Amino acid sequence: MAKELGADLFGIADLTVAQAFVCKQGGEYLRKFSRAISIGVRLLDAVVDELYRHEDPAAIYTYTALYNSVNSSLDHVGLLLAKRIQEKGYRAYAIPASQTVDSDKLIGVFSHKLAANLAGLGWIGKSCLLITPSYGPRVRFATILTDALLKAGSQIDEKCNDCRECMDICPVKAFTGASFDPSKPREVRFNAHLCRSYRKKREERLGEGYCGLCVYVCPHGRSNKSLP
Ligand code: SF4
Ligand code: SF4
Repeated sequence: MAKELGADLFGIADLTVAQAFVCKQGGEYLRKFSRAISIGVRLLDAVVDELYRHEDPAAIYTYTALYNSVNSSLDHVGLLLAKRIQEKGYRAYAIPASQTVDSDKLIGVFSHKLAANLAGLGWIGKSCLLITPSYGPRVRFATILTDALLKAGSQIDEKCNDCRECMDICPVKAFTGASFDPSKPREVRFNAHLCRSYRKKREERLGEGYCGLCVYVCPHGRSNKSLP
């Protein structure tokens, strides 16, 4: 059903292995959900490929519109899936594609990347993005939490290896290069405040703050490698 509605990726995560982390971030009420349904919708390669024209407002505005439109599609698919699960007699709690509820820590109620990672849809790269084998980081995610005991997938190995392209291209050097380790906080790998203040300055200067260079450069999912 997810694919028929427009999702490009779909998987189930068993949340019982990460319950302490999930409840610490989002609240105790999340403990009642033992599964997360992860859905992904691809960005358009032709638009992401233009992000190297980083100072051109046209490239940034087009990317922003795409980003918002993919988020809306995900929320729509998530709502219809959640309604179907509810009709079957289970609880379904749809987490929107874009959500920041803690403006200090810059985190949402629930990590879509965690769900996608546990579901086996990709690994968390040095860029802290979810890197999928087929589309790299060029995918946006949403999640439906549920108590329906659906069969869960399993994690896949990280494949960043010696690559450091996201670290090199980031204008504010926000990534440390440390590999993902679930026992360590995000700050060990990524300074989200550096990224946010850079985007804020861009917004004042260009009218739109999105950057996206770390999405653009990742060799996984990058179809046109002849671009700069
Ligand atoms: S969006 Fe830009 S500034 Fe932020 S982490 Fe990625 S490359 Fe760095
Ligand atoms: S650019 Fe390289 S290091 Fe960064 S996430 Fe992609 S594969 Fe990993």
